[in-house]
Amino acid sequence: MALERTLSIVKPDAVAAGHVGDIIKMFEFNHLRIIAAKLVKLSKQEAEGFYAVHRHRPFFQSLTAFMSSGPALVMVLEGDGAISLLREIMGATDPAKAAPGTIRRLYATSIERNAVHGSDAPETAAAEIAYFFPAIDLI
Ligand code: GDP
Repeated sequence: MALERTLSIVKPDAVAAGHVGDIIKMFEFNHLRIIAAKLVKLSKQEAEGFYAVHRHRPFFQSLTAFMSSGPALVMVLEGDGAISLLREIMGATDPAKAAPGTIRRLYATSIERNAVHGSDAPETAAAEIAYFFPAIDLI
């Protein structure tokens, strides 16, 4: 499988609840290496930019208010098949539908406050990484 990079965000709900260490442990256990990381408190506008693809969805205002409500840990992860691997260990968007043992099943509290983000395809991974990190910051 190809070596890939993907963007992960430990969302404000999971940072506030103290799950950063547990989530990073799951990444590392699954051979996803952290090659860049920073704690950010997004402005509403920055959250809207990141989730622009969802701007016409009914939950857009609520989602971007949540994502700008407190610190979030943004990371670039690297590994074999990292994009689909991260999606697998995250679990389904709705924690009620997420498989047992996945991050969202363990730590999400609603379909919106679902603990973690992971890019869904190579093109979105590249765009999302560039949204947060200049190339020089990637190890
Ligand atoms: P993801 O790729 O699994 O994160 O899911 P999406 O790209 O479809 O949605 C982006 C984010 O919007 C999700 O991770 C949730 O935080 C939020 N979201 C998705 N669907 C809903 C919904 O039906 N209601 C609300 N309130 N938030 C949602």
